Amino acid sequence: MNKAAFLDRDGVINVDVLDYTSKIKDFKFLPGVFEGLKQLQEKGYLLIVITNQGGIAKGLYTKEDVDTLHTWMCAELAKQGITITEIYFCPHHDVSGKCLCRKPGSLMLEKAMARFDIDATQSFFMGDKDTDAQAAERAGVMSVKVVVNSEFKVPV
Ligand SMILES: [Mg+2]
Ligand SMILES: [Zn+2]
Repeated sequence: MNKAAFLDRDGVINVDVLDYTSKIKDFKFLPGVFEGLKQLQEKGYLLIVITNQGGIAKGLYTKEDVDTLHTWMCAELAKQGITITEIYFCPHHDVSGKCLCRKPGSLMLEKAMARFDIDATQSFFMGDKDTDAQAAERAGVMSVKVVVNSEFKVPV
């Protein structure tokens, strides 16, 4: 089985502007992210991003905008030798109905673990919100709570 570093996006990988980040020009990598992700990769962790993008349900931006941003983000990380295995995003929001994927729901984590044969007990989820920690707990993954927009530090 594999082990994974599950990563929230906004506030962990990039600066959370406390509004939605949907454009490349607004996306700023946090300090330490390149080094940290590289270290995790070298330790054998798959890098999997798990992010709520409720701005889609609110009509603020589209799934295509998110895909464009993520393609760019992965290309920037690839320049640093970093491979993101997969990015899961929930496009829903409570304003337009409940879903199972939106964190604190754990469906995105569970999908990733099934698809990539991940051992929950060897993995962790880094996030800046209580909802990240709750999703981790529901999926049986260790949660690592970090301060929003702080320097990225490898927890293991
Ligand atoms: Mg966040
Ligand atoms: Zn959802």
